[in-house]
Amino acid sequence: MTEISQKDLEYWLEHVRIYANNGDVADYIPALANQQPEINAVAYYPIDGEVLYAGQSEYTFTIQSISKVITLALALVQHGESAVFNRVDKEPTSDPFYSIGTLEVEEPAKPSNPMINAGALAVTNMIRGRDSEEMVHEILKLVRMLANDESITYDEEVAKSEFETAFLNRSLAYFMKQNGIVTGSVEELLDVYTKQCAITMTVKQLARIGAVFANDGRDPETNNPLVPSHVARICKTFMVTCGMYNASGTFAINVGIPAKSGVSGAIVGVLRNKGGIAVFGPALDEKGNSVVGIHFLEKMAQEKHWSMF
Ligand code: GLU
Repeated sequence: MTEISQKDLEYWLEHVRIYANNGDVADYIPALANQQPEINAVAYYPIDGEVLYAGQSEYTFTIQSISKVITLALALVQHGESAVFNRVDKEPTSDPFYSIGTLEVEEPAKPSNPMINAGALAVTNMIRGRDSEEMVHEILKLVRMLANDESITYDEEVAKSEFETAFLNRSLAYFMKQNGIVTGSVEELLDVYTKQCAITMTVKQLARIGAVFANDGRDPETNNPLVPSHVARICKTFMVTCGMYNASGTFAINVGIPAKSGVSGAIVGVLRNKGGIAVFGPALDEKGNSVVGIHFLEKMAQEKHWSMF
């Protein structure tokens, strides 16, 4: 029996909708600046039942930083823990996700963790493929498998818009190339990274990805392993320590579930052995987290007493 009802989702969303204008949509990626703050949606994908949803659940958005969890899983599968953690550390940071400052003080330019942009760029750089097209294909293959939807792809306009304006991410990547953390063409890396961030989906598809992690890497319908359980465990741990940017500590206290946020306004949360939850609302707080999404998850966690701590 699912532990969240359709009524719960509708009631919680109704309750938090009023916060839709309490933040700002991300505008440093020009194509995201057009998002309507009033749009919001939620889906819950239980590992033992039917997906539930409320709000504009067919609305598609780009997953942005949520893709970092998926490329981390892929890199861990392809190369193993020691190779990945040679390039990127495992520690949370109080710096914002786009920060360049700590790279210079770390030795030798090793990003703090795979959830900040520098760390994600270093991880994406490891994805196998002869060129950027093959690398993007590998990432999409895993995303489609996790979401159980072959039609998932990336939004070319959002990818192009970010690629053309990603001056800071380029700087991070070039700095890491100078120090041997990134190898090969930085422009190809930016091509892959901006396309992975521009992968589009609905809350239902995103909640299904959360459900796979809730089921320790196994498909919620067939129970087939899609991601090895130790890889799923590492990804969930990073979601707890670093998934909500430099608000991860506050989120751990107020909500207490593994979650990952993206600047499009999407958040995916993992309720272990229960299911995946995805919330969307494009207005962001000053740390880059969806205002509606945070309020929704706080409400859910309080009412259901679902903190894992
Ligand atoms: N594509 C965005 C960037 O690299 C992702 C940031 C995010 O969602 O946190 O800035």
